[in-house]
Amino acid sequence: MERYLVQLRAEGAGPAIIIDPHTVVTAPWTAFKCQFGCGNFGKNHCCPPKAPDDTRTRAVLDSYTRGILFRVHHWGASAMAAACARTLFLDGFYKAIAFGSGPCKICQSCDPDGCRFPDKAIPSMEGCGIDVFATARAHGLEIHTLREKGEERNHFGLVLVD
Ligand code: SF4
Repeated sequence: MERYLVQLRAEGAGPAIIIDPHTVVTAPWTAFKCQFGCGNFGKNHCCPPKAPDDTRTRAVLDSYTRGILFRVHHWGASAMAAACARTLFLDGFYKAIAFGSGPCKICQSCDPDGCRFPDKAIPSMEGCGIDVFATARAHGLEIHTLREKGEERNHFGLVLVD
């Protein structure tokens, strides 16, 4: 696993760590936040209500024994997680899947008729019912709400590997 961590760190992740997927915290309230607080609700194929809910995500998480959790300070977490999962898959880890951060931004605007790049688009952790704050803190990783424009952002990516 070390070389995948090295690759993520080379792309700017800090930290990138191996975790037990059972320690990823899920909660039903994250979709509520999406619905009442984000303009992408119902407008992006990777966001609620199309994204898997916390119950399904919990079941998926619990069917894996290893995960890679990483943090970056830019919007590239989803692309990095998707690329990492793709590399792992090609290396024989056929169950590798990825979760990113925020709504899918591959296209300038999401296509309501269907995803244009289903092989590249991945859901966000929070959109799938993952409590990113609790998960990051459970692993000793700094995360806080933003008060000022221009404050350093924390974006997390998660790759499940078996
Ligand atoms: S790849 Fe494009 S169409 Fe697909 S979810 Fe992302 S933004 Fe929407």
